[in-house]
Amino acid sequence: MPELPEVEVTRLSFADRISGAQIMGVQMGKPLRWPLGCDVSHLEGHTVHQVRRRGKYLLLDTSGGLLLIHLGMSGSLSFGADLSPAGKHDHFEMQTTAGHLRLHDPRRFGAVVYAPAEDHPTARKLLGRLGVEPLTDDFLPEGFHHALQKKQSAIKQVLLGGEIVVGVGNIYASEALFLAGIRPTVRAARLSKPRAVRLHAAIRTVLSQALAKGGSTLKDFSNAQGESGYFQLDAMVYDRAGLPCRVCAAPIKTIRQGQRSTFFCVNCQKP
Ligand code: ZN
Repeated sequence: MPELPEVEVTRLSFADRISGAQIMGVQMGKPLRWPLGCDVSHLEGHTVHQVRRRGKYLLLDTSGGLLLIHLGMSGSLSFGADLSPAGKHDHFEMQTTAGHLRLHDPRRFGAVVYAPAEDHPTARKLLGRLGVEPLTDDFLPEGFHHALQKKQSAIKQVLLGGEIVVGVGNIYASEALFLAGIRPTVRAARLSKPRAVRLHAAIRTVLSQALAKGGSTLKDFSNAQGESGYFQLDAMVYDRAGLPCRVCAAPIKTIRQGQRSTFFCVNCQKP
């Protein structure tokens, strides 16, 4: 599943090229997670101003309104002047004067949704409950600790929930908790301030490292220049069940939390 660094790398790979381009046509394939919410003809003739990101949503500001794009479980965007003919898993395509933007999404959990503006109920419904962006100045250690105090669930579930801080998905939650020395099952409200501060720093570290490497990726991810599958993260715990911990050599344990696999070291991560 594309996580925040992958979505940001995708954004960076086409944002400059598409800004200022005029939309010439839009085609939709099979239904995605949510309907587009407008007739495709409404978008034609409008100009793309910029591409922003909020959580794992890409926001295309156009002169005719906002397009929110989510990559879901297996989505990837391509952007280019000369794309191959659309295949059976390509479910959104937008021709612009600068190139074609295409969403490839075999599992169709992704979505492209139109909203007249960011404060419109359609956009607010998707973006309204998102927590702070982890790599901005709004994400502060004190505020993070304070917010955790109100959460009784396991810290990993709270991170994945995205209401306190967005974009910390399954891979980076496991990695950040390892770096901070915190067992994923600890109740969020029980974390002391020093431990919350360590976790805050660890989240920023793992996300920045992944971004710097162009995003750790799963096999389905490819960025908008069509490069695919470059998994570059040297994971400490993620997907390493049974392998020796890179710090203490104890075997990495895996458990299920809310239907997702969690990986941790029983020595290095304290309850
Ligand atoms: Zn260890």
